[in-house]
Amino acid sequence: MDPVNVIILAVGSELLTPFHQDTNSLYLTRRLNDLGLDVSEKIIVGDEFENLGKAFRKAREEADLIFVTGGLGPTDDDRTREAVSSVLKRPLEFREDILRTIEERFLRRGKTMPAANRKQAEVIRGAEVLPNSAGTAPGLWIEDEAKIIVLLPGPPPELQSIFETQVRTRLAGRERAFLVRRVLKTSGLTESEVESLIEGLYPRDPARRLTILASPGQIELHVSAFSGVSAAEAERQADALTSELGRRLGPAVFSADGSDLETVVGRLLSARKETVAVAESCTGGLVCRRLTRIPGSSTYFREGFVTYANQAKIDRLGVPARTIESFGAVSPETAAAMAEGVRHVAGADYGLAVTGIAGPSGGTAEKPVGLVFCAVADAEATRLEHSLFLGDRTRVQDQSSQKVLDMLRRFLEEKSSR
Ligand code: AMP
Ligand code: MG
Repeated sequence: MDPVNVIILAVGSELLTPFHQDTNSLYLTRRLNDLGLDVSEKIIVGDEFENLGKAFRKAREEADLIFVTGGLGPTDDDRTREAVSSVLKRPLEFREDILRTIEERFLRRGKTMPAANRKQAEVIRGAEVLPNSAGTAPGLWIEDEAKIIVLLPGPPPELQSIFETQVRTRLAGRERAFLVRRVLKTSGLTESEVESLIEGLYPRDPARRLTILASPGQIELHVSAFSGVSAAEAERQADALTSELGRRLGPAVFSADGSDLETVVGRLLSARKETVAVAESCTGGLVCRRLTRIPGSSTYFREGFVTYANQAKIDRLGVPARTIESFGAVSPETAAAMAEGVRHVAGADYGLAVTGIAGPSGGTAEKPVGLVFCAVADAEATRLEHSLFLGDRTRVQDQSSQKVLDMLRRFLEEKSSR
């Protein structure tokens, strides 16, 4: 089977505003990937006839399979049918039977069909009609010069029901190949550190792909592999690359199955039958929020404190007043005392603590914005790390929560492997 080049064209001027997102393409991409089809490009275009035509012409030149979503409604700004008809030079033909179906849909709700809906009964010559049981606009399936063009209505429930009931089966047998994906997630490394560690591993053959996705405190490596032969062959290809990546990146890898950091930490704590308590300053509860987001966290999460004021650190956690006076609230000494204090107060196996300067104000030359101390204490020892995070307040908080959870994760993994 020749490679199938897929383009999704999302139509709708609202999708070019800050208020509406194109989610249909995400849905379609997931479903197409399940069928072993990869999307090479997504285009978002407004409702203007000219722009729509231009975008569709480009998609048709480059792709073998084109999904056009939206613009099939009854209003004047819905021009997808007209634009596609004009580019393909196939006229629109009025279909009495489709009009009946639309009229009946209105009648069932005790209404008469507005005249505007008539145009939804127009079909591009030669197209197969994909009936829409969830709405008025049917989809259209067009085979044109060895290319397939699928027009789908914009409302997600309608698009999804047509895809599930009629498009998926029509695509069967046109899959590019067997496709598998693997995701490795790492923490504690920057994107450039990851890049240099995996040097030389970027696949050169087109059947395998490696993409790096960076977000603050977390780098993801997405591996995909195709095979024209079998799923097992694709899996072998993907696993070979994934395990080599894992070997190079070592303990920075915290998951190979898509799990996030708090899930991994939760699994490790559950497996060890141990508990954790948290003392937070600059993260304001984010670490607790992340830990308790996980179902079942009540078995290992004891309690958390947001100790913002110095006095709160003293009263709730037993941090010695002298420690804060001598070293400041943002200091390794205070972070360690917070972690040890919360562990003791909560009677937990581990105490976590975060104290730092989230900004935008409050920084000094000696202690700049983004300076964060994280600590993890168990019965034997307290681990401490200082970080200098870049970015605004939210980013500093996100990275701090990631850092302290990652410290616990590494601590637990080391203890488990001993
Ligand atoms: P339309 O088919 O253009 O009349 O679209 C009808 C409605 O579907 C719009 O008002 C949007 O709310 C929704 N819609 C259209 N395109 C998309 C898209 N790509 N992703 C998510 N929703 C969409
Ligand atoms: Mg629209």
